[in-house]
Amino acid sequence: MSEQTARGWQTFGHPGAVRLLSGAVEIERTSHAYLFTGPERTGRKTLAMDLARAVNCIPVPDLFGNVPLPPCGACSPCDRIARSLYADVRVIDVDTPLPSPQKASGQGSAGGRSRNTIGIEHVGELQREASLKPFEGRCRVFIIDGAETMTPEAANRLLKTLEEPADSVLIVLVAPSSTQLPQTVVSRCQHVKLRLVAAGVIERMLVERFNAGPDTASALARAARGRPGWAIDALRDPTAMDRRNQTALRIFSALTGDIEERFRYARDVSSTFRRDRAAAMDEIGAWLEWWRDVAFAAHGLHEQVINTDWLTSLSAIAALLDTDAVARSAHSVELTLDALWANAMPQLALEVMMLDLPGVDPSAVPAPATASAEADGGSAS
Ligand SMILES: [Zn+2]
Repeated sequence: MSEQTARGWQTFGHPGAVRLLSGAVEIERTSHAYLFTGPERTGRKTLAMDLARAVNCIPVPDLFGNVPLPPCGACSPCDRIARSLYADVRVIDVDTPLPSPQKASGQGSAGGRSRNTIGIEHVGELQREASLKPFEGRCRVFIIDGAETMTPEAANRLLKTLEEPADSVLIVLVAPSSTQLPQTVVSRCQHVKLRLVAAGVIERMLVERFNAGPDTASALARAARGRPGWAIDALRDPTAMDRRNQTALRIFSALTGDIEERFRYARDVSSTFRRDRAAAMDEIGAWLEWWRDVAFAAHGLHEQVINTDWLTSLSAIAALLDTDAVARSAHSVELTLDALWANAMPQLALEVMMLDLPGVDPSAVPAPATASAEADGGSAS
C-alpha cells in the first residue's frame, strides 16, 4: 500500500492495521463490526475515528486535481467527524448520558451520577439509531469506547445487532483485550490488535507532526511506554511528566514503607479506582514499569530505563533484591490487574499486591533529590 493511502489517517505507529482498514475501505468491503484491542492510549480510538472518517469521506481533490484516498482530512465529513459534529458518528462510553433518564432501568446506571459501566440503555439507544437510515453520511458509525465495561445485559443486547448487521451501520468496539468481552460478541467482530509503539516511532511522530523539540520528543517518547496518546497529551500538558514522577514517588514510598504505609497506599488507590478506574489502572500499570526498570537497572541497561530520574534508587533496589524477587513482584502486579479486570474488590486486590511486595530497607535506598514529599498519601489521579 502506498504512502498516499495512509496520508489522511491520524493513527500512528500501526501501519498494519491502517493498511488492513484502508484496503477494506478502498474496495468497499469493511466489516460490519470491528474490535480494536490494545493497551490504553495506543491509538485504538484514533483508529476508530479514522475508520469512521474513511467510510464517510467525500474526498476533496488536491491542488493538482489528484483525488486522495479516504479519509482525505479535508472534506466536510472528515472535518466534522474529527470535531465530533457529525450526526452519523457516535462515540459511546461510560460517560455518555442516557437518552431519557425515565427509561433507565437499573443496570447500575442512574441519571446524572457517574457510572462505571455501559448499560443496556446505551445499547438500546444504539439499536434505535442503527435502525434509521444515515442522517447525512453513507454509514452510521458507533464506537463503543471501553466495551469491556458493558454489563452482561448490554453485551447480550448488542449481540442481537451484531447478529443482524445492517449495510449502512458500522460498529467498532474498543477494549484492552478480547478476553474481557463475551466470546459470542468477539466472534462477530473483525479483531484488530494494536501493540505498544516503539519509542523511536513516537519520537519521530512528536517531531514531525507536533513540532516537538528533539530533547522533549526523546524524553516524552521514552516516558510514553509505547503509548503515542500519552506522549501527545504530555506534550500539550507540561504537568504530565511531573505527575509521572509523583506516581514514581508513591511507588517508592510504598515499596520502602512499612505495612501500614503499604496498606494506606492500597486504600488510596482503591478509592481512586472508585472515582476513576482508568487512573487507578494506570497507577497499577506504573508498578509493572517500575519492576521492569529495576530489572533493566540490575543488568546495567540504563538506556532502557523509563523512570530516568530514579535510576540511582532503581539500581539500589536492584542490588538488594534477586532477580526472582523482581520477577515475582512484576507477576503479582499482573495478577492484580487481571483480578481488577475480573471485578475483584479493589482494596483487597491491592492489599494482596502490597503483601506480595518484597521488604526493602529504606535506609539502603536513596530517593532522588528531585522527589518532593507532596505525593505522600496523594491520589493517583
Ligand atoms: Zn474526507
